[in-house]
Amino acid sequence: MLISNPWPAVIARSAAGAAFFLFVGLVSGYLLEVIAVGAVILLSYNLLQLYRLEAWLRLSRKRRPPRAGGLWGNVFDGLDRRHQRQRVRRYRLVRLLRRFRESVDAMPDGTIVLTGSGEMDWWNHLATRYLGLHWPQDRGQRIANLIRHPDFASYLERGDPSSAVKIPSPQDSRRTLEIRIVPYGQDQQLLLARDVSELHRLETMRRDFVANISHELRTPLTVLRGMSEQLSEIDDLGPADLERPLTLMEQQIERMTRLVDDLLLLSRLETEAPATPRSLVNFSNMLEDIVEEARAMSGGAHVINLIVDDDVTVAGDEEELRSAFLNLLSNAVKYTERDGRIDVRWFEAAGGACLTVADTGRGIPLHHLPRLTERFYRVDSGRASRNGGTGLGLAIVKHVLSRHSARLEVTSEVGEGSTFSAIFPVYERLDAAPNALQTGEP
Ligand code: ADP
Repeated sequence: MLISNPWPAVIARSAAGAAFFLFVGLVSGYLLEVIAVGAVILLSYNLLQLYRLEAWLRLSRKRRPPRAGGLWGNVFDGLDRRHQRQRVRRYRLVRLLRRFRESVDAMPDGTIVLTGSGEMDWWNHLATRYLGLHWPQDRGQRIANLIRHPDFASYLERGDPSSAVKIPSPQDSRRTLEIRIVPYGQDQQLLLARDVSELHRLETMRRDFVANISHELRTPLTVLRGMSEQLSEIDDLGPADLERPLTLMEQQIERMTRLVDDLLLLSRLETEAPATPRSLVNFSNMLEDIVEEARAMSGGAHVINLIVDDDVTVAGDEEELRSAFLNLLSNAVKYTERDGRIDVRWFEAAGGACLTVADTGRGIPLHHLPRLTERFYRVDSGRASRNGGTGLGLAIVKHVLSRHSARLEVTSEVGEGSTFSAIFPVYERLDAAPNALQTGEP
């Protein structure tokens, strides 16, 4: 609505009033007295309007404003309009907030709104149920003080929104929660807690099943191997055409034994916590042994070089690291043609301590690289089986490295070769000051 400018009317009315009092004053001969009476009337009128305005603002702004004409009418109407607009805006905001809270409440995840410094601002009822929060007592508390699981503490420390952490619910240890913290808005964070108990139960069942079946297969395999060895020791086995099936049988028993061993190792790596404390690994000795084994595997078909920086080391589980690196090296032997070259290097790089196994083999097409560490994933399954691979080697490597806070990087060019790098961001330099822990993190 367009508000008209009241000032011309106000000035005209004031001028008419002043002229009237001036005229009466002059005619009656009491000019000063008449002007004083006029001033008192004007002052009283304005005081009365001020009183009505103040009473309206103080007592109830929900009622209609007092009615008045002229300038005061404009003031009352203007204030009322502004007030109405604010009320509508507030109402809309409240409705928006209510809808936001209702939708967050309807989410199947526990959700907590956190400030940038990790204090809890608001949460939905599932967060209350999963994490045992109390409204409003816990408001403003730091989330780290309420969820005290060590895995959650190190997750907070890492501050990586792309990852999540699985912990038992502080309310009910049978419930497994997957917690993820994502940043949003301006310096705020959203904590999402999902109940993954069923998934966790199935995962545990799968692991147990694989571990049990591998274990059960061990005994019959040992018996079969013993029998095949006995058969092969017999000089006069009978018809000559039994020789080949026997050799094949031995090869398959050998392969199955490797498969069962790898499955058992993998399920141990998945289920058992890493041993602590860990001692510093002598990489020089370990890598020399592994390279010797690889040379025996290669049977002189490849040139295998080793370069080791003796001063760089990592605190870890030597047995686990040995099996991971042997897998990398035996892959290089398996997938590199005769007369190829394999370089093994242990050195300090910009991102941390690094083991690289570089070969001049046939290489791996780029689109296979992200899936290489999946169990039984093979680039060329026929060739891999012929090479005696179990399909579990790189899965084992990945698990071992993650238990050492390390990662695997693969670069490859078809026809040129591949380089597998195990990078340990946390390592030690033996020639550095005592107890100096190096970190390759930027
Ligand atoms: P496998 O027992 O089949 O070797 P791995 O998990 O060790 O299983 O490796 C997975 C697949 O990755 C292999 O089947 C092979 O196709 C590919 N691969 C691994 N290392 C190399 C390498 N150095 N050169 C080429 N391909 C490789």
